Amino acid sequence: ACQDIWGYTPAELIGRPYVDLVHVDDRGKTAEADDNIRKAGKLTDFVNRYVRKDGAIVDVLWSASWSATDKILFCVAHDVTQRQRAEEALREAKDAADRANRAKSEFLSRMSHELRTPLNAILGFSQLLERQSPTETQRSRLGHITSAGRHLLDLINEVLDISRIESGRMQLSVEPVCLAHILAETLELIRPLAAERSIELCAPDKIDNEWHLLADRQRIKQVMLNLLSNAVKYTPENGRVAVSADLLGEKQTRIVVSDNGPGIARENLSRLFTPFDRLGAEQSEVQGTGLGLALSQRLMQAMGGSIGVESDPGRGSTFWIELSRAESPLRRTGSAPVKSSATANGQSPNGPKRTVLYIEDNVSNLTLIEQIVAEQGDIDLITAMQGRLGVDLALRHAPDLILLDLHLPDMPGWDVLAQLQAHEATRNIPTVVISADATTQQIQRLLAAGARAYLTKPLDVDHFIRTCDEMAKPKTAVAEVTASPS
Ligand code: ADP
Repeated sequence: ACQDIWGYTPAELIGRPYVDLVHVDDRGKTAEADDNIRKAGKLTDFVNRYVRKDGAIVDVLWSASWSATDKILFCVAHDVTQRQRAEEALREAKDAADRANRAKSEFLSRMSHELRTPLNAILGFSQLLERQSPTETQRSRLGHITSAGRHLLDLINEVLDISRIESGRMQLSVEPVCLAHILAETLELIRPLAAERSIELCAPDKIDNEWHLLADRQRIKQVMLNLLSNAVKYTPENGRVAVSADLLGEKQTRIVVSDNGPGIARENLSRLFTPFDRLGAEQSEVQGTGLGLALSQRLMQAMGGSIGVESDPGRGSTFWIELSRAESPLRRTGSAPVKSSATANGQSPNGPKRTVLYIEDNVSNLTLIEQIVAEQGDIDLITAMQGRLGVDLALRHAPDLILLDLHLPDMPGWDVLAQLQAHEATRNIPTVVISADATTQQIQRLLAAGARAYLTKPLDVDHFIRTCDEMAKPKTAVAEVTASPS
């Protein structure tokens, strides 16, 4: 066996110190192990490398025991070269997979940024044209542009979300959220879509405001909106969609969204949560990406909940989600009304002109904002295509509002914000970041650094105008406004 492992004949080995055969890099640890055997009496699972007579390297696994009375070292050696190589290959493969995964995530986040920037121009300008009393034909053509743009945006957002969850980079803030609020807000958002299709929306009877769930507020709304919009989309006109909430034992809550639409064939149920699988709906007129349920399932799992479905083909589908109950924070602290200075009707306040400074280097984004602002009539817009110039203009003109892009040629928008915050004269001017980077981390970072709001590109024109109205109040103290990350 020794001859097999080391390739020497007994005659070649007799009289040679064994350490001559040990790989030079392993001699130190081998001498140490040799010492230890004599002290402890035995050694197990020790691996070192030997150099065979033909120069090849063999990995040897040792167990040994020392007999002090006989002064003999009994050793058992195993050639574990194959096993070590396999483990190394596995480690390398895992490293390569990790590297590929990181590259994929970086690619996706970059792609999302690169796609959002041109989409900002496409969606922004088509929304502007829609506001300019187009003819019926033009309106219908603009509708196609906007709806295709929004579809693309949904696709980008959903792909990005799935990749974030899969790479463990999705940041969730799981906290007690009020069930009644979540249901009211999501039903409110879905109402226009249901009305368009003459679908009756049945909301649950009044739910106690103290009923709370453990969830991430934005993400639970995203899942609910997805289930509700699916129910409304796939149910034929004049159908019915109902929402209800039940307690499951003491600790769980189940929210149910049911419809009387076409239902889902039993053999398709297992494919329901597979990304991009639309179960044949791609042949229909109903728009979708096939990502909503896949993303909802991953979000529910990430929040410690679950999602499921029961369906009766031809009669309807019932989707449910389950989450843990949480103690109501109202019970502990009493409720505090949320402060907001949003103008109720979204109109520009009357009075003197407001000055807005826009720091942005992308020409089509600049043009878009210039044109939106021109429509408002009561705003003087100053623009700067570089960060340093932006800070100078802010100091010189003391605008009522600063709009800030993050990708600037001379310095990151992040530094511009820091400089604005550092100057006494500009510290209190509300700064709104407008960026294609929609990651929660980035949004939180900028809001924590002093930005009053963070708007993501592509811009929702109405939301942008509302934000300007809330923030830019000439010559009066700026009221506190809830920062909006969307
Ligand atoms: P999509 O963007 O296609 O709506 P989803 O992941 O949300 O993607 O849903 C996947 C598929 O499941 C849909 O394409 C549709 O075929 C089916 N589906 C989802 N909800 C319903 C429902 N309420 N009724 C019937 N079919 C549904």
